[in-house]
Amino acid sequence: MATREAITGGDRIKTITTHYIDGAFVESHGREVMDIIKPTNGQVIARVTLADEEDTRHAISAAKSAFASFGRSTKEERTKILRRLHQAASARVDDLTAAMVEEYGGVVRFAGLIVQSGVNAFMAAEQALQELPLTRNWGKTTVTLEPVGVAGLITAWNANALFICLKLASAVAAGCTVVIKPSELSSLQTRVLVEALHEANLPKALLNVVTGRGNVVGAELVRNPDVAKISFTGSVAVGKSIMRDGAETMKRVTLELGGKSPTILLDDAALYQAIPSALVMAFLNSGQACAAGTRLLVPKKQLDQVKRAIIDAMSAFPVGDPADPKTAIGPMVSQKQYEQVQSYIRKGIEEGAEVLVGGEGHPKGFEAGYFVKPTVFINVTNDMTIAQDEIFGPVLSVIAYDSEDEAIKIANDSEYGLHAAVLGTDLQRARRIASQIRSGRVVINNMTDDPQAPWGGFKYSGVGREYGRYGIEAFLEPRAILE
Ligand code: NAD
Repeated sequence: MATREAITGGDRIKTITTHYIDGAFVESHGREVMDIIKPTNGQVIARVTLADEEDTRHAISAAKSAFASFGRSTKEERTKILRRLHQAASARVDDLTAAMVEEYGGVVRFAGLIVQSGVNAFMAAEQALQELPLTRNWGKTTVTLEPVGVAGLITAWNANALFICLKLASAVAAGCTVVIKPSELSSLQTRVLVEALHEANLPKALLNVVTGRGNVVGAELVRNPDVAKISFTGSVAVGKSIMRDGAETMKRVTLELGGKSPTILLDDAALYQAIPSALVMAFLNSGQACAAGTRLLVPKKQLDQVKRAIIDAMSAFPVGDPADPKTAIGPMVSQKQYEQVQSYIRKGIEEGAEVLVGGEGHPKGFEAGYFVKPTVFINVTNDMTIAQDEIFGPVLSVIAYDSEDEAIKIANDSEYGLHAAVLGTDLQRARRIASQIRSGRVVINNMTDDPQAPWGGFKYSGVGREYGRYGIEAFLEPRAILE
């Protein structure tokens, strides 16, 4: 099959009726058809036939057969495959970015970065694999790191292509074969990506992709005894159910869950730099990012200056068409997400927080689709719902503190612990504070990334780590042979 024909429809409503199993696009056994809605105007842009349990079992069985040989592959063979995957994904960067913009309204300036980091994940995994000793010997003991088996990879919609690439790269580096269950809201992006990866000439059935509902395809992956490992990115509620239901078949799990990340503004920060930086972190991916810095902790004595600096800086965060490179904030992914954001804004007002910027309703001129007003609350206390819950929209809570110790206490007073930021000019001081924050990552002064550094959460933000050698180790089991 010419793979680009897998999506039909041209400019009309597109249709996808196949899944990628055993090296080919095969017609869905599942019959449920789901509409894909364009978030900028609420129009149907595609219809997708969803997989059922039988499609999922078909994919698991293919991955299981492929594991018999790929599970014994050498580092050199995996390295070559990672390079081919990188090359194949690189060829469709623009198509992938366009699909993300169209399908979930991701702003193009962010979508481009997300796609590029997905593509880069293959090279980063290759580098980490070179540096990871898979065999160690001492005395009469030999320890080898063995691939865990067939891995089920389940992704969230908000950076679906990145999550697929990242999890696939680590699994391949470890020698696992995979069945991917992408978010059903990301069907178009997934199709473009799978078409691209098909060109990598992979060992047959190393990669299988079945798009369907979480409680159908995802649940089958979690309960199936032929799946050894689940690597999941999504909500805490589903993460808990995966841990609970996976226990029956002793699943190894990596869970990348939510966040309510604190940004600590220190009193020596240069506000003209620090406030735009804090807003970038708060409004990342239109606020629909697990790492979004949605609690801004500011010294009480500087509150008035901070308020003015926020109002001034907001002009750099225009709402608009996500395809326009000038746009900083696009629509929410769905009507449900729009309503969730509205209900949190209402809740913030009811609980006594004060709206500094934004508020309820659509921004003027963006009444169609799922656009919300980027909103900044002041007079927030950390016990308010808007300071504790993950809103997953562009809503920032400004919380005042009196002392450094209090700032650290507030930052850690959260059930989450995924990401955090410290902004200040005295680097020694910023590092000292960073080292007291209970989060998987803390950035100093800017949102920055390192594909070899671990990513993952303390507390309810998850279990395990991704990226670099940490991500590969999550797909490995040590085996010791003693003579
Ligand atoms: P979600 O939990 O609703 O869905 C995530 C995936 O799980 C989807 O593919 C869904 O179909 C599937 N799923 C649903 N029910 C399932 C079940 N019973 N068994 C197996 N799979 C099931 O989350 P979402 O709305 O897609 O994503 C938003 C959430 O993801 C937010 O909480 C966000 O913070 C989190 N997230 C975390 C990270 C991270 O790296 N820590 C990154 C991005 C998003």
